[in-house]
Amino acid sequence: MASQGRRYASGHQLCSKDVSAQAPSAFFDPATETLDRRQLQDRQLRRVRELLDEIVPRNPFYTRKLAQARVESWDDFRTLPLTTKAELAADQVATPPYGTNLTYPLDRYVKLHQTSGTTGKAPIRVLDTEQSWDWWARCWGHVYRGAGVGAGDRVFFAFSFGPFIGFWAAYEGTRKVGAMTIPGGGMQTDQRLQAMLDNDVTVLCCTPTYALRMAEAAERLGLDLAHSAVKATVHAGEPGASIPAVKARIEQVFGAQCHDHTGMTELGATGFTCQAQDGVHLIESEFVFEVIDPRTGAVLPPGEQGELVATNLGRAGMPLFRYRTGDLVRINHTPCPCGRTFARLAGGILGRADDMVVVRGVNVFPSAIEGVLREFPEVSEFRIEVYSEREMTELRVLLDPQPGTPAGLAEQVGERLHDRLLLRVPCELVEPGSLPRFELKAQRVIRRG
Ligand SMILES: [Zn+2]
Repeated sequence: MASQGRRYASGHQLCSKDVSAQAPSAFFDPATETLDRRQLQDRQLRRVRELLDEIVPRNPFYTRKLAQARVESWDDFRTLPLTTKAELAADQVATPPYGTNLTYPLDRYVKLHQTSGTTGKAPIRVLDTEQSWDWWARCWGHVYRGAGVGAGDRVFFAFSFGPFIGFWAAYEGTRKVGAMTIPGGGMQTDQRLQAMLDNDVTVLCCTPTYALRMAEAAERLGLDLAHSAVKATVHAGEPGASIPAVKARIEQVFGAQCHDHTGMTELGATGFTCQAQDGVHLIESEFVFEVIDPRTGAVLPPGEQGELVATNLGRAGMPLFRYRTGDLVRINHTPCPCGRTFARLAGGILGRADDMVVVRGVNVFPSAIEGVLREFPEVSEFRIEVYSEREMTELRVLLDPQPGTPAGLAEQVGERLHDRLLLRVPCELVEPGSLPRFELKAQRVIRRG
């Protein structure tokens, strides 16, 4: 894939290492990353039409939904039906094991992954062809270049590889930018830290939660990550890397730029942060993005907050048209200092449409609570409990403190939550180390009857 030797004017830098100077090249695919909006939209519309020609009538799921579709304009496109996760799940239950969103015979598919699934819900299985797997890797090429990763870098995966797609795709993607991959599956946290130091790892890939856990372990072991070779951390699986307090803590401990990435197993790798670190760029060369009102499904004007809807353009074997991600976002179309014309999610993913809790008339996202809690380095883990009391929704927060933390912490956290959220949230300390630690898809919000 093309690259160019252009360098950034460095954005703000939180660490002592000269991150930008090491960036091998700014862009992964300069030809598409710098298109003006009109050219970009023309390209997207052409690819939408090509995709429709490819999948109708081969793909039974989308032939049912889109057989009559004619997309000559963006107005036509916006009349296409939305696709939901519930639809995909129901389709796989009705036609096991892979459902009917298959464009080709099964022998064309070379990879199987699945969504993590939540309690009581079966995961959705997704299949990729050789072509779509290569597309995943190229999307990750954008993620890596955004983080300044290229030839000469050593990328460590602090992750036990399972059926979750994110880090497999990330693992494949390193080849597209010429970096070396070092798998860290089947290891304890201490061993992973040692492997990173032994191999002069320059890039760490893991969930933000796990990066914080590694930070905690490094402190315990007296390892100095801030002065190690690590220059960038790249996060997937959870939105934490766009929460300012989480990002700041990771950057401080690792002495590295902390990068966010957005994506979904069933959809693809959709976004990345660049070195300007001001929002998550959407990979608009490979997807069409829209923002809708989650209640009505109507497309919102640019800049308004709503639910992100995406159409992937490079996964013809198991495509998604106008897929409701459930993620609440606000798209920023102003030019980015990095020079890319891809729009950005201001502040990353702001929350999940179905995560919002209404407490005494105040809309609260668990990510907003996490943002406040992460400002307290004494809090090593936490749990948010949502419960009903006299027909009203209530919240409380359990704090798992660092050993030796004074008892006043709960009150301090409670006061700051009140200042920020304008809501009284009871906070309680629990025994240090008593709450579960997570490697992937942390489940810190517990809902009780
Ligand atoms: Zn940028």
